[in-house]
Amino acid sequence: MSEHEHLHIYDGEPLQEVKEKPGWREVTEGGIIVDAGNADLYHTGEWRTEKAIWIEKKCIQCMLCWMFCPDSAYLVADEKVVGIDYNRCKGCGVCAQECPVDAIAMKEET
Ligand code: SF4
Ligand code: SF4
Repeated sequence: MSEHEHLHIYDGEPLQEVKEKPGWREVTEGGIIVDAGNADLYHTGEWRTEKAIWIEKKCIQCMLCWMFCPDSAYLVADEKVVGIDYNRCKGCGVCAQECPVDAIAMKEET
């Protein structure tokens, strides 16, 4: 098994959907996420006021954006970045800060 086989493989279909939204009695106080490593279960893209734009022609495929994104938003196929899952990108800007070649721009949501 390759070391990348656990990555999201983008096949053009939406990634895993949240099965059912919790009611207000089940939501944690302040909406905080209490378990580590469960970003896949949340559509954190709904929080966004800015979004990351991946500029393919500048990208050197270093994978730093995938490593740093706290919400598993980078889509990967054949061990390369192929896009961003906007259900997950919350617009934090970490990827744009870490990209060594300015291949990610932050754009205000309209
Ligand atoms: S802006 Fe934040 S959440 Fe969105 S893709 Fe970049 S690191 Fe991930
Ligand atoms: S950090 Fe920048 S150069 Fe590296 S894979 Fe991501 S977009 Fe491409």
